[in-house]
Amino acid sequence: MAAGIPHPFQQLWLRYREYRTRVILGFTLSTIRKIMDVMPELLIGAAIDVVVRGSDSFVASLLGVTDRREQIVWLAVINAVVWILESTSDYLASLTWRNLAQQVEHDLRLEAYEHVQGLDMAWHESHPTGATLAVINDDVNQLERFLDSGVDRLWQLALNVVLVGAVFAASSLTLTVMAFLPIPVIIVGSMWFQRRLQPRYAAVRASVARISGLVASNLGGMATIKSFTAEARELDRVRAASETYRLANAEAIRASSAFVPLIRMAILVGFTMTLLLGGWMALDGRLEIGLYSVLVFMTQRLLWPLTQVGEVLDLYQRAMASVRRILALLDEVPVTLPGTETVPSITGALELRGVRAGYGEGPDVLHDLSICIPAGEAHAFVGPTGAGKSTLLRLLLRFTDPRDGQVLLDGVDVRELTWEGLRGQIGYVAQDAFLFEGSVADNIAYGRPDATREAIELAARQAEASSFVEAMPLGYDTHVGERGVTLSGGQRQRLALARAILRDPAILILDEATSAVDNETEAAIQRSLAEVSQGRTTVMVAHRLSTVRNADRIWVIDAGRVADAGTHDELVRRPGPYADLWAVQTGDLAAS
Ligand code: ADP
Repeated sequence: MAAGIPHPFQQLWLRYREYRTRVILGFTLSTIRKIMDVMPELLIGAAIDVVVRGSDSFVASLLGVTDRREQIVWLAVINAVVWILESTSDYLASLTWRNLAQQVEHDLRLEAYEHVQGLDMAWHESHPTGATLAVINDDVNQLERFLDSGVDRLWQLALNVVLVGAVFAASSLTLTVMAFLPIPVIIVGSMWFQRRLQPRYAAVRASVARISGLVASNLGGMATIKSFTAEARELDRVRAASETYRLANAEAIRASSAFVPLIRMAILVGFTMTLLLGGWMALDGRLEIGLYSVLVFMTQRLLWPLTQVGEVLDLYQRAMASVRRILALLDEVPVTLPGTETVPSITGALELRGVRAGYGEGPDVLHDLSICIPAGEAHAFVGPTGAGKSTLLRLLLRFTDPRDGQVLLDGVDVRELTWEGLRGQIGYVAQDAFLFEGSVADNIAYGRPDATREAIELAARQAEASSFVEAMPLGYDTHVGERGVTLSGGQRQRLALARAILRDPAILILDEATSAVDNETEAAIQRSLAEVSQGRTTVMVAHRLSTVRNADRIWVIDAGRVADAGTHDELVRRPGPYADLWAVQTGDLAAS
């Protein structure tokens, strides 16, 4: 790990103060349980001591009771108390840790999702959905698993060494050394394994993200896969990714499985030494018989749990790799941040002033673009693919910010507006209308969840969607799946338009809303646009010129610059790219 970067768990501890009390409570309860857990062995020793030494016994000197039977009764009472305390603390510790794990999982998942939602569109476009999904689901789960039982087990192991060590140290120094002999081997071995395991688990987590990304993208592109009969090829790709995952896991398993046998050998040495040396010392009278029996038990108690170290470290390393990935996701920061202003009574006047824009490190896509869209007018942008029309719309929605120049809404730089102040004023109809899981009515009301059924139906009528919606068996209550797969492209487009209309925005933005629809739908959308664009600013990008011919002004964009502008009638009359395109689209090839 690079110097200066705190350990992932330290980062979690610093970040989430609200869990601290419960973590401390968990450790306290676990400690009580462990102390109670070690007690029975000591009581056995004490009982043997009572039988062997009678009135000279440890219990006699501690409690001042000389009668052996009475001493045994006392031991039985103490024993019962110990067991009750152990059971209670066991229950409470387990409750604390497991609930904490659930709470952390819940909070972290929500935080990660909220954070991801706040990231720029540019980030979303450059990061595979599946990989992000893997962090929000799998990695958060992995941490939950470790918190659920791993932390507690790790703590129990450490406490065990300390407590049992204390009993040994108080009894016989020679035996302490013998019993503890294997521990350095175990610790050095564990550290060596940890170092080997760490990169392996990082590889495992990374390959999970790759599979998830691949599968998510394939499920989204199922139609393309089937139409190109690429099922076998895609299966091969998923198989390869899954195989990489399996191999990465196999590597990790190979390394972690070798751990337990090594520890067993070390335990054998420690146990044999205590058995032999302790036995000889007891025979020579240098060690009380009660204590000898305790120490033989205790060696087992000391060393056997250490076989779990491998398993717990395994959980720990997996969780560590996951925490790193979660923190890395949470450390991504949005570049496009909202401002603080709102325009009180917005008119919807838009302006691009000397705008230069592009993506990432790439070249400029828009060059010194200056465009004025007065409030209430309908403006259209046409031009060849890749000219920069969608980029222009993205600037209006602030999915990207310009490299130079300004985008203004009612004379205010959009960077100064809150999201609600900007996007809240816009009804956006994307090229590929996205429908959410839910009813038709829910989908139309997406931008205004409190809309009445009347308002929803009115918006549907204005978008010319009402006739096909009413023809469906459940009408507005018909369930439409993710991506609206049960609807045609034209129907989806009309629902998306209804959704934008219901929002009653000052500005309506349509990105190629008619590019993928039939002529009838296009005519329907045109009719509804003529109606709903009244009194609001409408900005549209269209491939089909018939869609835009009624616009107040048409901007012809070419290679990121304005090539021409005017009304449809003006543009078709003068020779230029628009007239050429019009000729092609209307079939009048002679003019081109
Ligand atoms: P149009 O909408 O006119 O077809 P776009 O605005 O989509 O054009 O694209 C303009 C240029 O910007 C193209 O060269 C395209 O490759 C590039 N571009 C568009 N979107 C992105 C993106 N998300 N990341 C990087 N480059 C992009």
